[in-house]
Amino acid sequence: MKRTAFFFAAVLWSAASLLLASEPLNLSFEFSGVSPEQGEIVEQIVEQRLSERSAGGELHASYAVDASFDAEEYSVETNGSTATLRAGSFPGLIFATGKLLRSINYAPDSFTIPEFSFREKPSASFRCCYFARHFHNWYHMATDEELERYVEDLALWGFNTIATIQIPLVNLNLDPETEEWRHAVKGVKTIRAASKRLGLSFVALDCVNQAPRDIPEELIATPNIDPKRGNNGWNACLSKPGGLEYMDRVIRASFGSFVGAQADYTCWWPFDEGGCECEGCGPWAVNGFLKHVARYSKLVNDEFAPDQKFIVSTWTYHEDEFEAVWEWGKDHPEVKYVLADAHGDFPKYPLERPLPEGYALVTFPEISMQGRFPWGGYGATPQPRRFTELWEQVRGHVDGCMLYSEGLFEDINKIIESGFYFRDEKAEDSLREYAQYELAGCDPEDFVKLCRNLEAILILREQNPEYAAAALDAMKLAVKIDSEILPSLRNAWRWRQFYCRCLLEYERNVRGNENTQTYVDAILELQHMYHSDLFPEGVVDEMHGCTTPVLPQGEIGVYPQPEEEIQER
Ligand SMILES: [Zn+2]
Repeated sequence: MKRTAFFFAAVLWSAASLLLASEPLNLSFEFSGVSPEQGEIVEQIVEQRLSERSAGGELHASYAVDASFDAEEYSVETNGSTATLRAGSFPGLIFATGKLLRSINYAPDSFTIPEFSFREKPSASFRCCYFARHFHNWYHMATDEELERYVEDLALWGFNTIATIQIPLVNLNLDPETEEWRHAVKGVKTIRAASKRLGLSFVALDCVNQAPRDIPEELIATPNIDPKRGNNGWNACLSKPGGLEYMDRVIRASFGSFVGAQADYTCWWPFDEGGCECEGCGPWAVNGFLKHVARYSKLVNDEFAPDQKFIVSTWTYHEDEFEAVWEWGKDHPEVKYVLADAHGDFPKYPLERPLPEGYALVTFPEISMQGRFPWGGYGATPQPRRFTELWEQVRGHVDGCMLYSEGLFEDINKIIESGFYFRDEKAEDSLREYAQYELAGCDPEDFVKLCRNLEAILILREQNPEYAAAALDAMKLAVKIDSEILPSLRNAWRWRQFYCRCLLEYERNVRGNENTQTYVDAILELQHMYHSDLFPEGVVDEMHGCTTPVLPQGEIGVYPQPEEEIQER
């Protein structure tokens, strides 16, 4: 009898704990000053992120737009299961939501909200990520849902602007009626819509002389002579007879595809895709480019978007070329931002000379291409040290950034940069916050060490003995993090691309052999993650190769798993 009673008590207890464990999320929301649709967007964002981490938990959130706040200023206050979020605008409430979500302590069964009070406003006005989406990379091949989700994720970290190329002319003929052209337009509209629904700004990048691939041969431009400026695609000479008329047609076709869905800014780009160094157009940086930026800004304002503002890029300008831009800027109030940057150190002129009136200076941090080839072919590429050094050169002098991004592999670098431009945060603190939220369950200090190790072995060299120690440490940290991270996040792409990178470094640098099943499996997983497995025949074009993980050549051997081996070391 006693035994039976104990048995029933035990059953009841386990039923109760089961009930407790599967207690669903208990969420409620109140909104003031936002539209019903905006309220639904916030509810969806919060519910999705919480349910991805914990099976249960209680949050009662009250949101309000508060006119006493600056537009992007926000505050979060918590008490028990309640949270009060205020901001000067809807995007400010999204930033506040991100702060709240990253502050929560997640466990598999339930989350808890620590008590805190936080208020801040961003130090830089333009926090933009540029999606380079014309190389069949992830941005190009992602579904609408994936793009929408990624824009949300960036907004939660404080990005207020998304940019992409307006029309990838390099891949197209001059015919807006073709399926290819329509497809390109649709992708841009998806990214724009995903940005606008969150209240973010949208930038279309365009070149004043970039032509489609069916450009008449006699109009092709004279190539750039500085190899750092590149000669991508087909650029038109605007000094040859018929050149200007041809380019007018291209610009009208391009902007005409977005009637009713214009960008907030057009960013005019000078080189790589763009440029002509013939006698009439050159020197392009100070002559043809500025002349035609003025012409096409006016055309866009007159015919398509009267209120549109412009960003003038001076990417890879030489020190002695900036003065002409600064002079030109005195007569061009339609420009709001001047963008400057180089492949390495930031140029000095823009930091030392006062800007034209009404202008603000933004940077172009190159977060994708540094270090190895294919730069998007090995998983996560954290570079906290490098980006801190570059930030130190510009902090206090600039009003924002437009990150150059070719995919998901540098997701962590975006977060490092957002910390710099939002609140001058140290890279390591951004890494800790990323770990707390995206890798919840792990020790954030382990993640900081892991990122340092991976940065130390970023540059590819064969069999460097110094890399073996860093790769072994990285693998040990990865195994530890993998065992601690919430089960619900263990297979998420953000962690898996770190884990795959550690496996690849281990095989390459510790075992000294890429021809292993572990290496092959990690590459295949990354190919799937980055959508390069949509092209079973291999890379589609040269630039596609830059973000495609590559399988090793030759016979593949089977060796013990790195996870087993490191236990013996
Ligand atoms: Zn020319």
